[in-house]
Amino acid sequence: MSDRLPGFSTLAVHAGAQPDPTTGARATPIYQTTSFVFNDADHAASLFGLQAFGNIYTRIGNPTNAVLEERVAALEGGTAALAVASGHAAQVVVLQQLLQPGDEFIAARKLYGGSINQFTHAFKSFGWNVVWADPDDIASFERAVTPRTKAIFIESIANPGGSITDIEAISTVATKAGVPLIVDNTLASPYLIRPIDHGADIVVHSLTKFLGGHGNSLGGIIVDAGTFDWSTGGKYPMLSEPRPEYHGIRLQETFGNFAFAIACRVLGLRDLGPALSPFNAFMILTGIETLPLRMQKHCDNAKAVAEFLAGHPAVASVSYAGLPSDKYNQLARKYAPKGAGAVFTFGLKGGYDAGVSLVSKLQLFSHLANVGDTRSLVIHPASTTHSQLDDAAKVKSGAGPDVVRLSIGIEDKEDLIADLEQALSA
Ligand SMILES: *Cc1c(COP(=O)(O)O)cnc(C)c1O
Repeated sequence: MSDRLPGFSTLAVHAGAQPDPTTGARATPIYQTTSFVFNDADHAASLFGLQAFGNIYTRIGNPTNAVLEERVAALEGGTAALAVASGHAAQVVVLQQLLQPGDEFIAARKLYGGSINQFTHAFKSFGWNVVWADPDDIASFERAVTPRTKAIFIESIANPGGSITDIEAISTVATKAGVPLIVDNTLASPYLIRPIDHGADIVVHSLTKFLGGHGNSLGGIIVDAGTFDWSTGGKYPMLSEPRPEYHGIRLQETFGNFAFAIACRVLGLRDLGPALSPFNAFMILTGIETLPLRMQKHCDNAKAVAEFLAGHPAVASVSYAGLPSDKYNQLARKYAPKGAGAVFTFGLKGGYDAGVSLVSKLQLFSHLANVGDTRSLVIHPASTTHSQLDDAAKVKSGAGPDVVRLSIGIEDKEDLIADLEQALSA
């Protein structure tokens, strides 16, 4: 082997995996087991005391999941990762390490509809208070900082309108405030954007979307950049203070630049319980092998469809950062030069009724609540994913009544355009 560092496509196929040492199996086996035999009593005790790494019980870790963790950490440029049952589970586990009841975190207003719900309602019941900021107005993040702020949360490419977030500018605000920047990189995937290269401290994903890529398995992952100093000012006691459940270990002191990933595993996943099934880990790993190929095709198709829509008389507006006329095109050129993703929105001159009617007339596009599938998908956010918001909040989050969201798949672009053409003229 040369001493060349492997490229992204090579890592997507190989990182974390090797032929199975006992059977020679080349694909990563599905270790469908709940638990693992200890070598002896001392080994068992050292595993439970965090003095040795190894497998105990699949709620805490599993060898199939470990390959997935190593692979995504490599693709994102992090020190370690933790796979969990869903994207939403990843968000709960991350914030549980950072917030005490009564604390705050700042979140960009443009987010996946489910995250808006989770932050507003479910997290409130834990005493975690979300403070909203506008990703198009960096100063709104600065203004939102208080002594109780413990984190900033943004999406790299934001749902539903596919806008591009200025990660570096918000990272500067986070650094000044002394809090970690968490980036949900689901819509970009590390193929398009690697947030850690732009100052993110923690990256989260819904693996359910482009990483798994085939619309068949739920999963989530947390990637630790290993960059944040958790010991300052006693702000993050889960990481800096002695842990009674592990004989008084201090996680940052003991585990250094992968302390956060460890905390998520041994305090979050172990105690909250949202473990990823090894079967899903296997499905997602298989999906990741073709991520670079799929993502490029998703983006190329999305650009062609966006160009077609921009020229259609029934279309009022197209929000796709890959179009030169788009408000986010400069940011897209900087952060996502290979393509601006495959999830975007467009507005119909006919308003709410035209949006509802279009989704019912499309034939090749599937009408459902997901993104990042090989298949092309469509939804009308105002009547579904964002229906819980009032009208002003819908418009602010990019889900006004006339807006339709597309997730462009990897079919032939001519077929996607023909389907939209027939539905728009029907
Ligand atoms: C889907 C999604 C989530 C939630 O992920 P689940 O796997 O459905 O729990 C979070 N963020 C974004 C951007 C998503 O698209």
